[in-house]
Amino acid sequence: MKVFVKVLEFAFLTLICLALLFISSPQKTVETVSATMPTQTLTTATSTVLTTTAMDTTVTTTTTVKTTPKPTTTTVPVNFTACDDIMFTTASVSARMGAYSHTSVMEKLDEATAVKRTGIGDNGWSRIVLRSGKAAYVPTKYLSENRKFPNGFSYKFDDMQVVNCVSDYTYSRMVIDLNELTEKYPDKLTVSTIGQSVDGREIYCALLGKSDAKNCIVVQGGMHGREHLNPYVIMKQLEYYLTYYDSGKYGNKTFKEIFESTAVYIIPMTNPDGITISQLGLSGIKNEDVKKNIKSIYESDKKLKYTTDSFNEYLRKWKANANGVDLNRNYKKGFGINAKRNTFSARDYRGSEPFSEPETKALVEFLSGLSHLKATLSYHSMGSVIYWECDQSGAYRKQCLEYVDLIESMTGYRPVGAGGIPYIGSFADHVISQGIPNVTLETGVYDTPLSKDEFLSIWSETENCIVATAKHFG
Ligand SMILES: [Zn+2]
Repeated sequence: MKVFVKVLEFAFLTLICLALLFISSPQKTVETVSATMPTQTLTTATSTVLTTTAMDTTVTTTTTVKTTPKPTTTTVPVNFTACDDIMFTTASVSARMGAYSHTSVMEKLDEATAVKRTGIGDNGWSRIVLRSGKAAYVPTKYLSENRKFPNGFSYKFDDMQVVNCVSDYTYSRMVIDLNELTEKYPDKLTVSTIGQSVDGREIYCALLGKSDAKNCIVVQGGMHGREHLNPYVIMKQLEYYLTYYDSGKYGNKTFKEIFESTAVYIIPMTNPDGITISQLGLSGIKNEDVKKNIKSIYESDKKLKYTTDSFNEYLRKWKANANGVDLNRNYKKGFGINAKRNTFSARDYRGSEPFSEPETKALVEFLSGLSHLKATLSYHSMGSVIYWECDQSGAYRKQCLEYVDLIESMTGYRPVGAGGIPYIGSFADHVISQGIPNVTLETGVYDTPLSKDEFLSIWSETENCIVATAKHFG
């Protein structure tokens, strides 16, 4: 009987303890995070009663009481202090649904991924924004404001304050930033224009390093209207290399050494009109005839059943230049091969003849003046893949493969071959057919125009692609 009483006493005390544990949760909450707590380990309460019978034999009676398994959902309060920082992960880490290690994983973040932090929790967890725009939580101990490289170089995002954007990165924003960067770094940066667009915008080119350098590479982006997150990425990379020009290191060389040996020409917005159409609609276009033409292209695309979108949505997805020509089909090599459309359109139309468009002409003429051009790097969106192949063979193919291997190792993007159609009149076809290796990065994982929430992930994937290319070909 004594034993029975002890067992009951024990069970009773355990229950009291568990109840107290739940009641005594902290209450100083600013914000609460719902979390499914782990299922409690089953306790099987077994009471054994020993009785002595008249015949002096011992009978054992066992009563087993099973507690039913029940996952407990509870709201655990965590106090978050709001913030707006850009941090880097210091290890590969799981971003979770709640600020607790047992909550589901939303995304695995590689080491050194830049993330926007919006809250610091009082339980050792931070709230961040994923590239999908969704909030997630990671342990605060895995976040640092310093991006540290194995070679000892480290940088802070906060040190780069010029290139920023609240909503879309527009042409006018870029012009302001280029001016500001030139004023700030007059001996490291030279800005010029290589031509004008259909609607009279300048096609800017920023030179990092000196024009008399032994080698040079060309980086270009924003060739398709709706792919306007890339100009922002490229401009921010330009600021990064300028900010850390003297102290920054890639591998065993400083940025200064690399860019002095290989100058980098950066054309962040090859198609400023297309980008303006995608961001601002017709109100961004200056020339009335160009506006009228865009309206008639919409009517034609509707008639040909290329679109069922509203006019605004149609313009938001615009890829072509302001004439309705896809600049990345307007080059001579492979012109018209695999053509998808035969008339002016928001996308895919090659134009009346190769180099018919002022933007294409400007880029080709600019390239032809660079006798020491070693490679080009193109930014497009989306898919997190890289294109590199036309019909290269022998030593040239090997050289191109080494380049794509380098970019693959940095970005983690999957290389995609030509798939039996080596030339289609693209910019890459133009340079590759002239013996200049090109890699085309397709940034982003969600649909174009990419959301700004993808910016930091793309930044982390591509931060050193330009300097690595310059070093590789230096
Ligand atoms: Zn593109």
